[in-house]
Amino acid sequence: MGNRATTWATWSGYRADEIPTTSLPAGGDSPCALFFPADYSVGMANLGFHYIYRALRELGVAAERFFASPAPHRSVERDTLLERFQVILSGISYEADARVLVKWLESAGIPPSRTERASRGGAPLIGCGGAVTYINPCLLSAIADFVVLGDGVGVVPHVVEVVRSQRLRDRVLSLLAEHPSIYVPAIHESGVHLLETSRRGIDLDFGHGNWVTPRTVFGAAFLVELQRGCARGCGFCTLPACFSPPRQRDLDLVKRDIDEAARGSELGRIGLVTPEAGDYKDLDELLDFAGERGMGISFASLRLDGMTQKMVRALVRGGRRSVTVAPESGDDRLRARCGKSFTNDLIVETLRMAKGEGVRSAKLYFMMGLPGEEDHHLLSISNLCLRVRESTGLRVTATIAPFVPKPGTRWADAPFGGEGEGNALKKLKRGRDVLLKSFHGSLRGIAEIASIKEACLEYALSWATPETSRRLVDGAPLGFSYNRLLYEVSRPEAASELRRLGLTRDIAKLK
Ligand code: SF4
Repeated sequence: MGNRATTWATWSGYRADEIPTTSLPAGGDSPCALFFPADYSVGMANLGFHYIYRALRELGVAAERFFASPAPHRSVERDTLLERFQVILSGISYEADARVLVKWLESAGIPPSRTERASRGGAPLIGCGGAVTYINPCLLSAIADFVVLGDGVGVVPHVVEVVRSQRLRDRVLSLLAEHPSIYVPAIHESGVHLLETSRRGIDLDFGHGNWVTPRTVFGAAFLVELQRGCARGCGFCTLPACFSPPRQRDLDLVKRDIDEAARGSELGRIGLVTPEAGDYKDLDELLDFAGERGMGISFASLRLDGMTQKMVRALVRGGRRSVTVAPESGDDRLRARCGKSFTNDLIVETLRMAKGEGVRSAKLYFMMGLPGEEDHHLLSISNLCLRVRESTGLRVTATIAPFVPKPGTRWADAPFGGEGEGNALKKLKRGRDVLLKSFHGSLRGIAEIASIKEACLEYALSWATPETSRRLVDGAPLGFSYNRLLYEVSRPEAASELRRLGLTRDIAKLK
């Protein structure tokens, strides 16, 4: 671990702020580093990370958490150094997280390339899981020794059993590959396979966070899961195809989770983890239940056409004065093509209701470069922002991100960068200029346009082939030659690789 940063940093302040919401088994004598490739505040808001930690502890594994910052190579539990762990598991939620994992390994002196680790004695075994594995696990093929596909909790017992029973790396990999939802690049790099993404009934699983801490992006909220997958079919969204079928947790289980957690600590706010809270069949009853106990609610995102007065009241009761909504476009017809059939009139009316309930600001999310988009669609974004501000009196901010077509989505084949001639980078830059000009006068400064270069990288990584993954570990040319990078993205090649592994079949089955 030659390059390892040696500056001492302790997690003691973070540990002191963590309130356990459940009794966690102590773990045993098999050490395992569980890494989240983002800051603590982001990783601790990810329920999947909580679930895997708990599953490992229940199996007697001494799992300890690592985050990319603020102290990357020491564990939260005991400030243990990363070099003490021979097994590292990492959750990869977004494509760019793979880059963070590579950099984190490099800075710890661990080769990010699985082939290099295999050729060196004593290098740790690295396994990945998380949301990206539902979409395109090839992104991790040069980095991870194995990749758990889909819902990881049900697969963890097989991983633990194999890792405990074997010492030889090759033997461990062969036995891991016996599981249909474990992709082992060294074994699956040739031939045709029948891998499948693991999808469990979520009621089988533990369904809430292990701790409450004020140091997360959601603040001190008790996280509880309501639904996984989504029954709606927004063309750009990975949830319907990749995370489906939609599965809702039973209300009685959710209530039980809240009551049990509230017994050990005072819960001021509940964070509902679900794609669209309004789709949860028993939401009203759940809001009443929280209200009777004086608890507020926070929603990760609210779909405009499902936002009720009761939901806004619960939000305000939890201390929130801001709502986040995603109209995607300022134009009703283009929005309907995206899969969201609510109108600008409904947006204004609903946000006016929110203002009346005590909300002070609205964050609006839009996309640019959508299929069928023309300049007048881009101009409609600033028009809608102005209309919302003037009609509701809310403080309005807008975030506009380039649309990125992804594997498994309804718009997987749509052009990247939008309609028209020229490469995606040029088209997106032109669209950004149109947008920036339209946010003038009193609208100046309220819009943030997400990085076009990051969107190009996201596109390239979401259609990664094993070759892309190899470049990621080699550090070139990703990150500095965007034109070349885009030119080299081959969606047919990535789709054919997913087919070879058996995974396109798996996604197609759900459509
Ligand atoms: S954008 Fe929201 S409503 Fe649409 S498919 Fe995705 S999660 Fe469902």
